[in-house]
Amino acid sequence: MSKPKVIVVGGGFSGCAAAVAAAKAGASVQLLERTDMLGGAGLRAGRMNYNGKFVAAEECKAMGAGEIFEALENIVLHRANIVDEENVYIYNVGKLDMTLQRVLQKWGVQYRLVSRIVGVKKKDNRIEAVTLNNKEKIEGDVFLDCTGSFGGIDNCVRFGKGCVMCIHRCPIFGNRVSIATKAGAQEIPHLRPDGTPGRLSPSITVFKESLSPELQRRVEKEGAFSIKLPREMIDYNKETSLFPGIRGEHQIEHINLVNIGLVVKCPAIGYFHLEDWRKIPGFENVLVEHPMGGAIFNFVNHTATSPRDNTMVVRGFTNLFEGGEKSGNGGIAECAATGSLAGFNAVRVAAGLQPVQLPGTTALGYFIATVGNAIDTPHGLETGHSLGHRECFEEIKKMGLYSREAKTVWKRIEKEGLINFLAQKLV
Ligand SMILES: Cc1cc2nc3c(=O)[nH]c(=O)nc-3n(C[C@H](O)[C@H](O)[C@H](O)COP(=O)(O)OP(=O)(O)OC[C@H]3O[C@@H](n4cnc5c(N)ncnc54)[C@H](O)[C@@H]3O)c2cc1C
Repeated sequence: MSKPKVIVVGGGFSGCAAAVAAAKAGASVQLLERTDMLGGAGLRAGRMNYNGKFVAAEECKAMGAGEIFEALENIVLHRANIVDEENVYIYNVGKLDMTLQRVLQKWGVQYRLVSRIVGVKKKDNRIEAVTLNNKEKIEGDVFLDCTGSFGGIDNCVRFGKGCVMCIHRCPIFGNRVSIATKAGAQEIPHLRPDGTPGRLSPSITVFKESLSPELQRRVEKEGAFSIKLPREMIDYNKETSLFPGIRGEHQIEHINLVNIGLVVKCPAIGYFHLEDWRKIPGFENVLVEHPMGGAIFNFVNHTATSPRDNTMVVRGFTNLFEGGEKSGNGGIAECAATGSLAGFNAVRVAAGLQPVQLPGTTALGYFIATVGNAIDTPHGLETGHSLGHRECFEEIKKMGLYSREAKTVWKRIEKEGLINFLAQKLV
């Protein structure tokens, strides 16, 4: 049998993980990325493995889909604890693009940068080809939509305050385009409590040199730490209306500072007016790096989930899978894991096998099913779902699935009979 051809659209964590999983399973894989770098939102993420995300990463590794996590561990700058985030590994975002390019090269994935897909050719419920903006047609046997969920300028204008010049760089590379949506799949946004579609991107990064010498020294030495906000600057209302269900009160009351290499990240504050920020000791000269409009507002994401089943196949299609934010979840571990499962199942389908889901007795199986149910439930996407915080993290603890010991997680996966399950050569 000749190798099936798998086409992955999007080169963030989900697309890269999907491409590697499909290549390992024996497919010929081509990945197309709209911008000039791999990494997507991960280019300004940086924090991994905290709380339940550690379990997701170890489950993936045990199941034979650990390449992205292992690559990130090689560029870790610090391990630290910050408010509500236990044992964060912080990778150097400046090294992410080339790190991911080397992973794809190692697994023989052909990838093309500055290659934005704008159209789809389909027959009934099968995708036959995708088209680039130069009209070139790329045919394949199975397709993966790993295009993320960030606004595109149009959505940032409609549901935010306009283009804030973020890392996605739509003005030069063009808006995000989902192939599932192009093919006619339903597209559902996450909703804020007031009904507005889309969430606000959670974080801002600032230039290190714009912090006081003392904050610079601490961030280089400690990697991450938290500063309690002056009482008058704490805005519970902003947080609950823009980032529903993700952050706890304790986090809202602090600014976390995280050294992600090129810049310092302040996770999960969404936006913070420069004038106010400069009143806080140590931030008198602070300058925002990402997004450029961060002090006024942030970009909008979680605008584009398509219904799927727990094997990651897009509902209504036989050869179209999705992973990452496109499939309803967010976070490095969550996106890489769903990408890996989607890539593996894509090759199963190409090989004439049924796609599989992960058992609900694993943290990932539980998480994928929970988010899948949320997509299908009215208002289900009003609260965020993450293995890092809140309900899903608490639930995996209750289920006895949380451990900070890699060995314990691996033993559990072994008992499930899933060691190297996602690393099988299928064709
Ligand atoms: C600022 C920020 C900070 C974050 N911090 C953290 C953190 O510290 N820890 C954590 O766990 N999570 C964090 N997250 C969440 C996490 O980074 C994301 O959920 C995850 O990286 C998304 O991966 P993805 O592959 O699903 O999507 P994306 O990263 O959005 O990747 C999608 C890719 O598809 C490409 N694309 C889109 N349309 C097309 C097309 N038509 N043709 C070709 N390519 C296309 C895009 O250019 C992009 O590269 C953060 C998110 C943001 C925005």
